[in-house]
Amino acid sequence: MFWGHRVIGVACVLALAACAPAGTASTTSPSPSSSPSSSSEAPGRKTPEAAGPPGVKPRKGEVRPIPRTGGLPPVISSIPTERKVVFLTIDDGWEQDPGFVRQVRDQRVPITAFAMRDAVEARGTPDESGGPARYVGAGKWGYFRQLRDAGVPVENHTLTHPNLRLLAYPAQRRELCGASKLIERETGTRPTLFRPPFGNYNTDTLRAARSCGLSAVLLWTATVQPGGKIAYQVPDKKLRPGDILLLHFRPNLARDFRVLVNKIKRRGFELGDLQAYLAAARAH
Ligand SMILES: [Zn+2]
Repeated sequence: MFWGHRVIGVACVLALAACAPAGTASTTSPSPSSSPSSSSEAPGRKTPEAAGPPGVKPRKGEVRPIPRTGGLPPVISSIPTERKVVFLTIDDGWEQDPGFVRQVRDQRVPITAFAMRDAVEARGTPDESGGPARYVGAGKWGYFRQLRDAGVPVENHTLTHPNLRLLAYPAQRRELCGASKLIERETGTRPTLFRPPFGNYNTDTLRAARSCGLSAVLLWTATVQPGGKIAYQVPDKKLRPGDILLLHFRPNLARDFRVLVNKIKRRGFELGDLQAYLAAARAH
């Protein structure tokens, strides 16, 4: 099945190169950013500069419906639109470069973050594929509150990043509900989207997601490697309307992000507001 475009079925099993384990260090240098600020603001507080989420919104009738899935949350790997718009998503949360928050805030770049507890709280060892880490766990959940204040939705990516296909339903539910509860406590907003680690899920995952109040499972059509290079999951190696791109909170993210955003714009694509597009796709 050519799975990269539009919506894929719940039976699709993915083995993608996202969230790779540690052990492939490179020699790139750390980004020249200032030291992290330890944020202590209370959950739920919004700063005045948060003037609504950035990114283009769907036009009336632009987005095709996402098929209904018999009461379970839909699994979505791209947004069904013909407009040249793509969506940026960033996973885990190990590396917490304050320069990246400034970039997102100052340039009003639309992103969606999928936070994983053990990364955000720096329990364990991060993936080293982006280069030497400098800000691992620097701001903990304060970093995600800063992102939230910059207009970034903070969504669910489990507590411990397991391969969910190896877990029974109760353990899957603990991972999903536990992360939603934690994110709500730390950011003031309960997640509505779930991204399964490694893209691995099964029907129990969808049942657990529904039980934890998560309304959709978000996959992706391309990953972004260190250096801003796009690794496509489709044969023709081109950006397509509605593509969802996956990045990670890695060293040099701010620099890689600049390269990526320029590349996307050069190809004539805009950056979309994922939540607005999902709402439009599900409003049918
Ligand atoms: Zn991950």
